[in-house]
Amino acid sequence: MRMGLPLGGGIGGILLLLLYSALTGQNPIDLAGGVIPGEDVSTTSAPANDPQSQFIKVVLADTEETWGQIFSERNATYAPPVLVLFSDATQSACGLGQSAMGPFYCPADHKVYLDLSFFQELDQRFGAPGEFARAYVVAHEVGHHIQTLTGVSDRVSAARQRGDRAGGNALSVRQELQADCYAGVWGYYAARRDLLEPGDAEDGLRAAAAIGDDRLQQQSQGRVVPESFTHGSSAQRVEWLKRGLESGRLESCDTFSTAR
Ligand SMILES: [Zn+2]
Repeated sequence: MRMGLPLGGGIGGILLLLLYSALTGQNPIDLAGGVIPGEDVSTTSAPANDPQSQFIKVVLADTEETWGQIFSERNATYAPPVLVLFSDATQSACGLGQSAMGPFYCPADHKVYLDLSFFQELDQRFGAPGEFARAYVVAHEVGHHIQTLTGVSDRVSAARQRGDRAGGNALSVRQELQADCYAGVWGYYAARRDLLEPGDAEDGLRAAAAIGDDRLQQQSQGRVVPESFTHGSSAQRVEWLKRGLESGRLESCDTFSTAR
């Protein structure tokens, strides 16, 4: 990915900000006008200004630009999620967040929780390196925020409470695939802003394939149990990320009315 442009100030502008931040130790995104309101960086061991944290913040700022635009085209105002970067464990309105859980979004407090060690794992254990692979993970969590704003998350959790476990898992898969598709929609806009480089989309697709339930189950228990899927198979995750990436349209992300 090109790290330069996401704040709309051009590469020169952001490079100056990054240089400024390198010299002063201040966060360039804060300097650029508080793009991340209420940013809540509660790292326990990783420094808040390491390149990894900076990268995540730049991606998040870019998702804000994209979703801000999409919402305003629908005469709505986008209220972005709050970012919480952590290592090891952190408290959330959804309970204790631990690194072992991977990144997550908590609908109760509208916060995206990202543990920095996950990105290393993505790279080393899941074999999905590349900046866009990381960006996809951030954009997927933001996708859950969008679902919370649109009411999809509430409807899914109400339906899950009424239904049985298998039905609940199936709904969860549809919700996760929609978040993948929304991540793709962001990727579409990022590409239009010339933020992607050749090979970036492939990095994201490789990451989506690496974290499919079938692949993970095969790795951890040596067999695949489709009824217990909660996020979708590798093929499904790739398919929905691709739909978003290629169309850039929310309407193409209707995983709920698509027969599977
Ligand atoms: Zn998810």
